[in-house]
Parts: sequence; C-alpha cells; structure tokens
Amino acid sequence: VPWAPKLPEIPDTVPICDFMLDEKHGRHPLSKSWDPYTCGLTGRSITAIEQKESVDKLARALAKEFGWGVNEGTEYDKVVGVFALNTIDIMTLSWAIHRINGVSSPANAAYNADELRHQLTNSGSKVLFTVMPLLQIALEAAEKSKIPKDRIYICEMPNDPPIPKGFQTLGQLIKQGESLPELEPIKWSKGQGARQTAFLCYSSGTSGLPKGVMISHRNVIANTVQISEWEKHGRDAIEPGYQDVALGLLPFSHIYGLIVICHCSTYRGDKVIVLPKFEIQQYLTAIQKYKIKALYIVPPIIINMVKHQQALQKYDLSSVRIIFTGAAPLGQETAEDLAKQYPTWKIRQGYGLTETCTVVCSTSPTDIWFGSSGCLIPGMEAKIMSIEGNEITGYNQRGELLVKSPSVVLGYLKNEKATNETFVDMPEGRFMRTGDEVEIRVSPKGNEHVWVVDRIKELIKVKGLQVAPAELEACLLNHPAVADCAVIPVPDERAGEVPKAFVVKANSVGLEESDAMTKRSIAKHVEKEKTRHKWLAGGVEFIDVIPKSASGKILRRLLRDKEREARKK
Ligand code: ATP
Ligand code: MG
Repeated sequence: VPWAPKLPEIPDTVPICDFMLDEKHGRHPLSKSWDPYTCGLTGRSITAIEQKESVDKLARALAKEFGWGVNEGTEYDKVVGVFALNTIDIMTLSWAIHRINGVSSPANAAYNADELRHQLTNSGSKVLFTVMPLLQIALEAAEKSKIPKDRIYICEMPNDPPIPKGFQTLGQLIKQGESLPELEPIKWSKGQGARQTAFLCYSSGTSGLPKGVMISHRNVIANTVQISEWEKHGRDAIEPGYQDVALGLLPFSHIYGLIVICHCSTYRGDKVIVLPKFEIQQYLTAIQKYKIKALYIVPPIIINMVKHQQALQKYDLSSVRIIFTGAAPLGQETAEDLAKQYPTWKIRQGYGLTETCTVVCSTSPTDIWFGSSGCLIPGMEAKIMSIEGNEITGYNQRGELLVKSPSVVLGYLKNEKATNETFVDMPEGRFMRTGDEVEIRVSPKGNEHVWVVDRIKELIKVKGLQVAPAELEACLLNHPAVADCAVIPVPDERAGEVPKAFVVKANSVGLEESDAMTKRSIAKHVEKEKTRHKWLAGGVEFIDVIPKSASGKILRRLLRDKEREARKK
C-alpha cells in the first residue's frame, strides 16, 4: 500500500502501564480535560490524570494485600483473574497489575462456573476481580479453583446493590493505596518486555476449548502502534485532527475490545463511552447522547441494525463517522444494506486473532471495499500456503494465511504441542498459522486486500469442492424471511458433505405463508445466486436463535452437535 508508514521501533524494555500513561511514550499529553473513559449509562467519567494516579495507588494496594513485591518472583506468581463486564475502571485494574509485574487474565463474562473454573485453574489465577451481576458464578468457580473467598474483589458498576459483607471493592483498594508507601520501580533485564507475559487472554473457543494465549508487553505495544500508524492516514482523510469518541461495548476481556478499543484509544488520546452489555435502545441512546463517532462492533450487531432499520430512524445517529467490524465475517451484502441506509458512514472491516494480539489487516477509510478485510497493517508480513505446503504468490488464489509481526504472541500456556503446530519457524522468521483460508485481491484503487474465506476446518467439502459457510450465510441474510442464519455440513452419500442452513425466521414473514413455502423460497434464493454445488442440499431448518459467542462468532460446532444428535434418532 503506497501510503503505509514504516513501523517505528517497538520498545522491549517498557511495561504497558508506562507506555500508556507516561507522556514520554504516548502521543497525547495526559490532561485534566481529557477523560478517556466515560460510563455510557451514568455519564460518570475519569480523567487521564486521575487514571494514572489510580493505577499507582491500586498497584500499591495490590502489592500490600497479596504480599507481592514488584521485582520478586516471576509474573506467573502474580496472575489476577478478571471476570467482569465493561466498566470505566477495568483498564486501571489491568495497568495496576502490570505495575507490579503481574499478569491480567480477563475472562469472558458469558462463562458459566465451569468454564470460568477452567480459565482460573489453567491460568493459575491467585485472586479474582468480578462485578456484582457475576458474583455468584465467580464464587462457585473460585471455590472449585481453590481461590479463597477473601481473594475475591468487586469492581463497582452503575446501580450496584449493596456490596455483601466481607468483600472489598476496587474503589476501596484505590483509597487504601493512597496512604501506602511508593512502590519501587520495575527493574527489567534487556529485552524482558518481549519475553514477559502481560495478558493471558483466552481464545473464543469457537473450534474447541478456549486456549490460554500468552501475550507479552511488547506484543500489546506493537499492535497498538501498528494499528495507530495505520489509522493516521485514514483519520486525516476523514477530517484533519480527527479525534475519536469510541463505543466501548464489545467485551474488554476479548482481544478486540482490549486492544482496538482500550489500548489504542488511550494511546491516541481518544474517548471511550463504556457500555456493559448490548441492548438496542441503550446502545442507540448512548450514540445519540454522547455523539459517538466510531462504532466498534461485530457482525451480529450490524445484522441487528440492518434488520431493524425502522427502530434506528428514531435516533439521531448523525455523529457516527466510522463503523468498524471484525471477529467474524461481515458479508458484502449486509455491508451494502447498511451503506444504503447510511451512505456517509465509513463501513470498515478488520481481521485479527487473539494470537496476533488482534489486528492483522483492516480497510482504510480511503479504500473501502465491502466484503474485504482490508490491507495488512504496518509491520505485518504475510504468506499464503496451499494445502500441499507450497507458497501461493498470485492473486485470487486461496490458501492458508500465515503472519509474522512483532504482535505475534509468545504461544499457548501449558500447551507445547499446539504452540509448536501453530507458531512455525521459517527461513524468514517465526510465523503464526492462522487456520483461516484467504485470498489476496487487488482493489479497484490498486491496493492488495485480504479477503477472508472462512476457517479451513469449517469449509464444507461437496464432491471435493469447497464451500465456505460464511459465503452462504452472507447470501441467506439477504433474503427477507431470514433474520439470522448459520450453515453447517451434513453427511451425504453421494457428495460426501452438503450444506444445510439453520434459519431464524424474520417477524415480517406473513402467517399466510407456510413454513414449507418459506423454506423453499430461501433455498431458491441460494439456487439463483450460487453455483450448483453450493445449493442447500442438506435442507433448511428453522431455529429460535443462532448460538453465538460473546465475541460475535457463530458457534457452528454446537449446531453440528445438534444435527448429529438428531440424526442418531
Ligand atoms: P478458538 O481459537 O478458540 O477456536 P477463535 O479462533 O474464534 O476461537 P479468536 O482469537 O477470538 O478466537 O478469533 C480469531 C478468529 O476469528 C480468526 O481465526 C477468524 O477465523 C475469525 N475472524 C476474525 N476476524 C474476522 C473477519 N473479519 N472475517 C472473518 N473471520 C474473522
Ligand atoms: Mg482461533
């Protein structure tokens, strides 16, 4: 890409907390007039200076409470589980943990007690921070993972009930830290920032059990700088001096929210409006009230917006400049539908993984191409390999994407086998195998774009030809009777596998139309749009909801299980 800047040197001796809050490193001076985090429900905000002071106080309190010396032991002696919904204090907590050389392990708020137990045990969490709405699950999981009750703390949220006796809050710890002596500085050896784990994030668990991903301080700093360098150009194209007001709705426990929303916004001096969960009215009200400019969202929310266009019209959404979507494919058709309604919005897509500390590629506001996941961001190198293991160098040919970048993580925790399979040494250096099939296409503006086809493991093999569920899902969503959908393979005697669609019926389908007619019409739609081997030979089945993860992915695995059970009967 002609305008792509060269990546500046990424430091390997600076901890994340300093990089974010020390003016030496950040591009924006901390000031009393900049409030990086505002609660979208109550309007309460914290200024950057307050946040920096709170990080310091909280770090002192954590060190005292747990008896953790800043430079004692390794980071794995100081793992803190964080099982919370988004609040304006979550980053204060993360960076305070880093200030004492500890590891933050954020957990998915949708977990049940057993799933949380898995993460707490696997990560070796010694203490747990949670929020009132999740306390019961947290207590159950903590007990099973031998975290004592007095090692559970509560992060305050709007409208909290009284905090039960025996629990301390994050606010109380910060207060306690005020009167504690200053901490000694972090002493690191050369290059330690590239070796030391800062976050233990867990992958979304789309393909199986979530994997503990070891993310170093330098990985986080790298991707933050990579994304921000890439954005510079795009921002100038929107308006000179563009400063973001970003929606902080996606979970800060998932790599997308954690890096793209939290770290990048603070680094660039933007504002984040924090919402703890998706509720359409609350979401639209917050956009209108806080004049949010950038909606960081996922395809299910966009689908929701496209299918509820009338509801949107009741709100003034004129502040919105950018839509940024990632984590799962956004079909070309859905993007076009939204663009029809809001022609001035820059609808952008990015692609990333927990293992690359998020973004690999993203579309620039100056070269938006619906369906594409955009151009590689600065400092990102890619290779595309065929199944036979040969490198593909031409355009419009499909293969597995491998990437090399300073943001490629250290590996999987306690899983050498998976680490060795996924992170591979090649003559040009260490690459990560993404497991995703992609192709490179040249945009009408002449730039190389990455088009993500789907996960290789989820491709449906029809008579030896590959069909991407994501492609059919995008096509199906265009049918008026389809509110939501997912496509999976089902066994077929002649073809090996054939696609089957699970569909949530739209409310607009009239009663006079029978289910059989609607199904037929949906199948016909695919037959009209796609070549024969992609037709829904496995049929169409109506379902109430499509199972999705908190990070916005379709859990086709659960539908495949459901289908297998049904076929046994
Ligand atoms: P697990 O690894 O546990 O199965 P996961 O891969 O879903 O879960 P994440 O690291 O959150 O966990 O997600 C990365 C994956 O998300 C990518 O490998 C890719 O399949 C998918 N993905 C992310 N962004 C996009 C996008 N824009 N288009 C298509 N797929 C995407
Ligand atoms: Mg994965």
